[in-house]
Amino acid sequence: MPSFLDRLADRHVLLTDGATGTNFQGMGLPPGVAPEDWVFDVPDRVRELHARFARAGSEFALTCSFGANSARLADGPLAGRVRELNIRAAELVREVVGEEGLVGGSIGPTGQLVEPYGPLTRELCEAAYAEQAQALVDGGVDVLVLETFFALEEALWAVDGIRSVTKLPLIISFSFDQGTRTMMGVSPADVVAAFEPLGVPAIGANCGRSLEDNDTVVHEFLQATSVPVWIKPNAGVPQVLGDTVVYEADPGTLAAHVVDYARQGARIVGGCCGTTPEHIEAIARALGR
Ligand SMILES: [Zn+2]
Repeated sequence: MPSFLDRLADRHVLLTDGATGTNFQGMGLPPGVAPEDWVFDVPDRVRELHARFARAGSEFALTCSFGANSARLADGPLAGRVRELNIRAAELVREVVGEEGLVGGSIGPTGQLVEPYGPLTRELCEAAYAEQAQALVDGGVDVLVLETFFALEEALWAVDGIRSVTKLPLIISFSFDQGTRTMMGVSPADVVAAFEPLGVPAIGANCGRSLEDNDTVVHEFLQATSVPVWIKPNAGVPQVLGDTVVYEADPGTLAAHVVDYARQGARIVGGCCGTTPEHIEAIARALGR
């Protein structure tokens, strides 16, 4: 099986997958229930979404483990089950994509603010991410992906914790949900300055606000770094219609933006919230796949 780094070197653009949470909601996940609950409760539906993305053209699947760190699980039904949850989430993807598929272990923020703004200390943070990363590695992922981060300290501590247990490649992705800055005021250039020196294989953004904001974010990353740029934008801005949330970008609209990112030089592309398998299929077609 080619490694992630070989695959990245070979392919001008790698197509990854779309959202987990919003698609699960469309498949019946009740509001307020974490997607990770389905890893144990209804693994068939987790495999089904992975399979739909693979059929749509995704060649790089992310595990359903975004919130599977000890800090985030602490008060919920999965408290104390970090290790088995991450291993199982990795196995579920592998069962679908096989040994030839590329599997990224999704790692999200703790949901806590770093001290002095909140309770998150360096020690707790490093330990939580070391535990999650070790379990994803033991579950068989090819690469780790820190995604939707917004605070530099938390992500830097996460990298230290993860690197204490594994040498797997580690992608860094921030969410610029204030438009072109994170909620902590971090810019794409700040992310590059903090993580490029650490030798990460790809760096960029996911989620965020509007597609136009993500257009600017991608431009700023491409200006700031020669490290391969990763971009998984939201399918536009969410709009609440009655009791459902609809993302404004249809597959063709999202694909037009994403293909433009690839043309400008982004190397790993996909979509975040609101991105369905139909959106990924439209991107694959627009990439000429
Ligand atoms: Zn998102």
